[in-house]
Amino acid sequence: MQVNNSTFVPSEQLNPNDTVSLEKTPITVAYGDGIGPEIMAATLRVLEAAGARIAAEEIQIGEKVYLAGHSSGIAPESWNSLRRTKVFLKAPITTPAGGGFKSLNVTIRKTLGLYANVRPCVSYAPFIATKHPKMDLVIVRENEEDLYAGIEHRQTDEVFQCLKLITRPGCEKIVRYAFEYARSHSRKKVTCMTKSNIMKMTDGLFLKVFDEIKQEYPELSSEHYIIDIGAARLATQPERFDVIVTPNLYGDILSDIAAEMTGSVGLAGSANIGEHVAMFEAIHGSAPDIAGKGIANPSGLLLAAVMMLVHIRQASVASKIHNAFLKTLEDGLFTAELHSSRSTGKALNTLQFADAVIERLGRLPTNFTPLHYANPASASATTQALYVRKALARKQMVGVDVFVHSADCSPEFLAGRLSTLATPELTLQMITNRGVKVWPQGFPETFCTDHWRCRFIAHTKEYIVTHQDIIALLSRITQGGVDVIKTENLCTFDGEQGFALGQGQ
Ligand code: NAD
Repeated sequence: MQVNNSTFVPSEQLNPNDTVSLEKTPITVAYGDGIGPEIMAATLRVLEAAGARIAAEEIQIGEKVYLAGHSSGIAPESWNSLRRTKVFLKAPITTPAGGGFKSLNVTIRKTLGLYANVRPCVSYAPFIATKHPKMDLVIVRENEEDLYAGIEHRQTDEVFQCLKLITRPGCEKIVRYAFEYARSHSRKKVTCMTKSNIMKMTDGLFLKVFDEIKQEYPELSSEHYIIDIGAARLATQPERFDVIVTPNLYGDILSDIAAEMTGSVGLAGSANIGEHVAMFEAIHGSAPDIAGKGIANPSGLLLAAVMMLVHIRQASVASKIHNAFLKTLEDGLFTAELHSSRSTGKALNTLQFADAVIERLGRLPTNFTPLHYANPASASATTQALYVRKALARKQMVGVDVFVHSADCSPEFLAGRLSTLATPELTLQMITNRGVKVWPQGFPETFCTDHWRCRFIAHTKEYIVTHQDIIALLSRITQGGVDVIKTENLCTFDGEQGFALGQGQ
């Protein structure tokens, strides 16, 4: 029985120059909501018993802070602690239902630039029942971009929009992180998952960057899956995967599925890594259904704390705790949600589970392979830049998409109206509805809503459109009584088209 935990580094890779400081490392701790205080107390108890050299500063986050009037869920002064310690051990929080509250998790990740969300998902068979006993993979999820930019608007009576933002530096950072992670953790393969066949520009960029960066890691195999079949394969044959790198939304969904497949969402920890700060948390939420009962599984937060200890260069303490945790599982000791006929005695409560781990500190698992973490190489040892800003491209405007709100109108009627309002510089080229071309030569079967994208193109191929041309066009259109929602400039970058065609164009 082998557990090749994702953060495991073989002992022969231990850097002999790593020095162990006996000073306590300041960390920021938040107890969170729901089961948060229970699993944090259990986790800190294990850390203390194992001899972790940490000085914890507590901050308040979550429901109480939201309800006290901070709509971000964190008081302004708490940022000072995070910026000072640069290490955050965080219990889950409850996001109040209803409007007006933004997710604090997303706020923290984005404000502190925590671009990589690293989620190891490992099976503990035969001690924890799972259909996938050979699962041992790490999901490296992009953590700041994609639909999580949170830029949403209601544009018409019928249409709501969420912008999907993918940047080249963002792709380079996460893809390079995934390859560096695979290399430094003795992994063999990096799999990229995107929907680049549909979102050719955004997901297409992610894949393009993956294809560029993989060339620098010839010793690692690499592959790409379209996310739908990739997710299906992950759910049925997880043993095929090693390190998976993927944009934010796909990674969020995949990692919960993968964690649940190992037996319980309560088992997985995660690291949120930035260039300056790192945050460690369980992947599950505040579990209000079992809060206050003292029965929650602290393993997710405990394993997140193990990742934190490696990060702050206390690898030997991390190994001691992780081995004791594995031994606890081998001894058949579980919290209620994992307890079964194969377990030993009664289900343990949260603190009893922590105490069972504490009793086993210093012992090694006999079925699972014992873990020996290595302190990470110091930052100065890393020569590879996470991203390289490219020289500015030659950008030329060739047209404009004008988005229009109009109920109860046909494409032909709208086209007739806009054609008469167009300026000599810009010609109406097409109209789409929800991205599908409906003029010219649309299909009567196409369902239309009240939101139209009207593409105006320079009247000749050579003409370079100016902002003044667009302002003149908008003046005429709006004076003609058309309700303009917004515009998107159509540009080329070094001659390459920077916009997608309409569906059916
Ligand atoms: P959840 O993860 O809290 O709970 C899902 C299910 O898993 C529940 O049945 C719960 O009892 C169980 N579960 C979760 N953790 C467990 C543990 N450690 N031990 C035993 N069982 C466990 O998801 P949810 O119910 O969708 O969300 C509850 C709240 O948590 C929401 O307000 C949500 O916004 C928030 N949330 C926070 C975070 C975070 O802070 N990182 C992450 C996800 C959800």
